[in-house]
Amino acid sequence: MENAKLLHAIIKTALDGIITVDSSGMMECVSPSAHRIFGYPNGELLGRNISLLLPGPDGNSQFHSIPNGHKNGEKNIIGKEVIGVRKDGIKFPLRIAVSEVKYRDRIIYTGVLHDLTGDGETEGTLKKYAGGLEESVAERTESLELMLAELQKAKEELHRALENEKEVSRLKSRFVSMASHEFRTPLSAMQLSVVLIEKYLEMPDRAQILKHLHQLKNSIGNMNAILNEFLSVEELEIGVITPGDDPFDVVQFAEELTEEMQLITKTNQIIIYQHTGSESLVSLDRHLIRHCLVNLITNAVKYSGENTLIEFSTGITADSYLFTVKDNGIGIPEKDHAFIFKPFFRAHNTGKIPGTGLGLNIVERYVNLMNGKILFTSSPGLGTQFIVSFPKKPVKIL
Ligand code: ATP
Ligand code: MG
Repeated sequence: MENAKLLHAIIKTALDGIITVDSSGMMECVSPSAHRIFGYPNGELLGRNISLLLPGPDGNSQFHSIPNGHKNGEKNIIGKEVIGVRKDGIKFPLRIAVSEVKYRDRIIYTGVLHDLTGDGETEGTLKKYAGGLEESVAERTESLELMLAELQKAKEELHRALENEKEVSRLKSRFVSMASHEFRTPLSAMQLSVVLIEKYLEMPDRAQILKHLHQLKNSIGNMNAILNEFLSVEELEIGVITPGDDPFDVVQFAEELTEEMQLITKTNQIIIYQHTGSESLVSLDRHLIRHCLVNLITNAVKYSGENTLIEFSTGITADSYLFTVKDNGIGIPEKDHAFIFKPFFRAHNTGKIPGTGLGLNIVERYVNLMNGKILFTSSPGLGTQFIVSFPKKPVKIL
């Protein structure tokens, strides 16, 4: 009797809750601390089903499933962390150990329940664990982001390199087809001249021989010019050209050039030259500007007909040097304007007029090298005008 009283006192004062239930789940004995843990007034839980406190995911109580293990014929008491529900509906974690007791031919289940809410150790461990997890997630995210950024950068670089490679191979293949096409014309002219010279040597016809020798020279000159143009592009590509700025008399220079270019004009095509401005000394790279003007005047001659005028002018204003070349030729179609400085580009109205499409590309690059600008206006059928300007420099006294 004393023992029973002692047991009752222990159960009444135990911190953990103690509940016994019958095999149908009805609570038969609920300690005060079990009432307190679940927020019920003392006695209110008696006779009610345990699934009220420990509902499982399937609606049945988790209580009976706990001591299910059989080991050597004995039922185990297994501690398990489960979720309980307080009277106010709030869920909370608790550890529960259940044992089966056979009492007067019935089975009674006894559960000891420990509330894990605010359990310092568990919470601390959980918090530490969660903190560590958060930290490593943050670290991992950061390194992943860095990796992503690196990958993106590498992808962009690869894309750029690929684009460059594509452009280079496109230019190379255009170069090959252009070169073979451009060389074929002077080469077949040369072959024809050689065959004819042989023939006229047998006659012999000195006048015809001289005429074909002259044509041979012309064709060689043409091939030379084309090769020089290709070489200029190559030099520009590798950046070996540095422009000089020794002063020279632009009027004298332009008059000589006009005379020289007059030799390649068509029948009755006349090049008129004029200069504006009181000064005539310019500080520019003489070789480069000459190359540009030869290209522009050759285009004016090539793309305009017989009996036309080509106006070539130079000028020195307060702050710039100007060069213009104007013709009344076939002009450039509007839709081609944006592309005429691109290497190998030729407008759609060039027909059978020969050319590589490199001239203006080289001109533009030379002009840029000398810090200048090149502009043009053109309408099909009316003509074209190119204007090249450079910033004026103080003339060096040599
Ligand atoms: P080349 O490399 O032998 O000079 P090209 O004359 O065809 O060949 P560019 O001088 O670069 O090449 O000119 C590019 C294109 O611009 C020409 O093919 C032509 O269509 C157009 N073009 C240039 N100048 C004139 C002009 N004065 N009148 C009409 N079209 C022109
Ligand atoms: Mg040209």
